[in-house]
Parts: sequence; C-alpha cells; structure tokens
Amino acid sequence: MGKASKDKRDIYYRKAKEEGWRARSAFKLLQIDEEFNIFEGVKRVVDLCAAPGSWSQVLSRKLYVPAKLSSASRDGDLPLIVAIDLQPMAPIEGVIQVQGDITNARTAEVVIRHFDGCKADLVVCDGAPDVTGLHDMDEFVQSQLILAALTIVTHVLQVGGKFIAKIFRGKDTSLLYCQLKLFFSQVTFAKPKSSRNSSIDSIEAFVVCENYSPPPGFNERDLYHLLERVGTPSGDDDLDCRSGWLEGPNKVYIPFLACGDLNGYDSDRSYPLPSSSEGGSYKSLDPVQPPIAPPYKTALELKKVSSHGIVDIEKLSLNTEL
Ligand code: SAM
Repeated sequence: MGKASKDKRDIYYRKAKEEGWRARSAFKLLQIDEEFNIFEGVKRVVDLCAAPGSWSQVLSRKLYVPAKLSSASRDGDLPLIVAIDLQPMAPIEGVIQVQGDITNARTAEVVIRHFDGCKADLVVCDGAPDVTGLHDMDEFVQSQLILAALTIVTHVLQVGGKFIAKIFRGKDTSLLYCQLKLFFSQVTFAKPKSSRNSSIDSIEAFVVCENYSPPPGFNERDLYHLLERVGTPSGDDDLDCRSGWLEGPNKVYIPFLACGDLNGYDSDRSYPLPSSSEGGSYKSLDPVQPPIAPPYKTALELKKVSSHGIVDIEKLSLNTEL
C-alpha cells in the first residue's frame, strides 16, 4: 500500500503526522482524556510500554510543557514522567526513559527509584505483545502484561490515583473487571473513536480505573493470592471461586463506553485527501519519528543486503546487536 493510500484509508494516521505525533495511538489517549479527564491534578505519571512514544508525547504536551512555560513553576515543581519499553525511543521533552521488560521485577524497582519515595497520580499502559492471530493466546499474553502493569501500580500509584490500560476483549474480560474492582472503586471499559472496529484494533479496548483504593491491610506481595480469589485468566475453570463469582446471579455487567467526539472522524472510514479533491496533487508526510531500533530492523537490513546479492547473515546480526 502506498503512503498516500494509507493516508486516505486511515484518517488518524494522516492526522498524527500533521499534528506531529509519532503514532496514531496518541488520539486514543486524547479521546480517553476527553471522556474521563484523566490529567486533572496529575503531577507524576508512569507510561508503561511507551515506544515509539506518542502517549509520552501527549503526557509531555499536556503536563510538562505547560508547567515549564508557566512562570509560577520552579524546577522542583515540574511534572515527573517516566516511560518504559523493551525498545529504546527517541528523546521527548520532560520524559525520563527506562529500557526494560515490565514483567521483570528489576524494571519495576528502577521505576520506583525514579519516584524517590513519592507516588504517581497516574499509570498508563498501552502494552501489546506481537499479535499471533490466535485470539485466546493473544488475549492471555495481553492479560499477563496487564497483571505486570498492575504489580507496578500497587507499588507506585497513590491512593485515589488512576490506571489506564489496553486490553483485548474476550472471554476473560469479566474476570479482569472483577480483579481490577478489588483495587479501584470505578472501573470502565472504553473504546476511543480512533481505535478501529475493523482490522487489528477490533478486539482492542481500554480499561479506565479510577480512585485506587487497595483492600485494607493489602500487602503488595499478596497481589497474586488476592487475584486468585477471583480467578486466573484462561484455563483454571475448576477453580470454585471463578465459577461462583462470575456466573448465574453473580454475572457481572461491565460498564462499556465509546469515547471521543461522536461527530469526529470515524477510524473505519476512508476520507478524501485534502488537495486531491480540489484537483491538486497530495503530498504525503513522512512519519514523525520512526522507531529507532524496531525488532524488524534486522529483517529489513537482510532484505536490503540480499537485494544487492551479498548475504552474510552472521556478520549482519552481530552488527545490529551492537
Ligand atoms: N503507547 C505507545 C505509543 O503511543 O507510541 C505504543 C505502544 S505499542 C502499541 C506497544 C509497546 O509495548 C511496544 O513498543 C512493545 O515494545 C511494548 N511491550 C510489549 N511487551 C513489553 C514488555 N514486556 N515490557 C515493556 N514493553 C513491552
């Protein structure tokens, strides 16, 4: 598919380049904010699974840049934004980057250290595994990322704080809802207008958890025991608690909300390109900031080299690891 035809088919992809966002996902966070006002009063944020960085850009533009420009702000008052990903990303003003795996305890420790005894007001997580197309498997791996994010939340989020995470809707959605309700008084599933109903985004939604209020006497080390009292994702159907909690009269109905201006752009529609409708020629913009070390980099380089007839795979993979 040519760049211009992608611009036509995906209005949010085009708008992201025009407005300087690294990825179209920026609009998802902005539309969640329109509905839930998630940035109100926020001074400290963790952005989990942040690369290539469009959510961090939103955090920077909404929180850091205005505070920096305000004459009332001194250095110590500036918002703290910590972003983590497996992949490195190009710098963003006011964003501290940590490269690491959020399922690894050491990554969580590094994040906690950055907060230096303070707690975050907001944790966001747009993490996604490489999708296999096997829906149950993708949903399971995604739920593991959410549990890793929740582990970090229990260490860094202050009481009353908010947690936003991407989910894949499926048979374990009610279970996830019940697990999150143990920690937050308000849990809503949301589908921003910029998240497509067709193609790869179709099962995607976001959970918006408000008012962090862990159970009395909660100890972070007991997280998994506590979650098991509700059930575990995919497979443990013989757990009494799971069938007891979620079926029959206990069946849960999850609050689900479409968000973003309903008169705004529809992500599943094609829109004419601006100047082509007026007879001129349309010039497609380049992406704002391509990933600096994407996992597919080796494959691209191999393709380039093989098209020149020289393939030295061992040497090439050595070079890209450095
Ligand atoms: N929110 C980002 C933005 O707006 O630019 C997009 C995030 S992208 C959809 C998903 C990210 O999750 C990828 O960059 C991937 O590297 C990251 N990811 C997946 N598993 C992870 C893990 N275990 N630890 C850290 N990052 C992870």
